[in-house]
Amino acid sequence: MRLLPELTPETTAFWTGGERGELLITHCDACDHAIHPPELICPKCLSRSVTPKPASGKGTILTVTVNHQPWMPGLEVPYALAIVALDDQPHVRITSRIVGIAPDEVAIGMPVEVTFEQVEDVWMPQFRPAGA
Ligand SMILES: [Zn+2]
Repeated sequence: MRLLPELTPETTAFWTGGERGELLITHCDACDHAIHPPELICPKCLSRSVTPKPASGKGTILTVTVNHQPWMPGLEVPYALAIVALDDQPHVRITSRIVGIAPDEVAIGMPVEVTFEQVEDVWMPQFRPAGA
């Protein structure tokens, strides 16, 4: 058993874009503000016209913690949980597991790229060291 994010009209693109290998970040059609976590109304200009657009998926680790306690069933410990800034949308911050590297080797400033783990109907964005 594992808790999955709820798919709502505003979050479905983010959680299912991985099916096509895309990290979809919602943008405002009026002012191009990147809205994350996604919402159906732009918090900057209050436009109701928003569109998910693919990001490059490349980012940089801002902070990282190594967790030794499982916070949900089915999660192997220890694991590295990081806040990642997207290189092409630096003010967008995504909290994500870092995979493909030993948790204690994950470092602040490390370049990473998105990868996805499918669990049922959700493609969980995760990040791994860039070029790995
Ligand atoms: Zn806007």
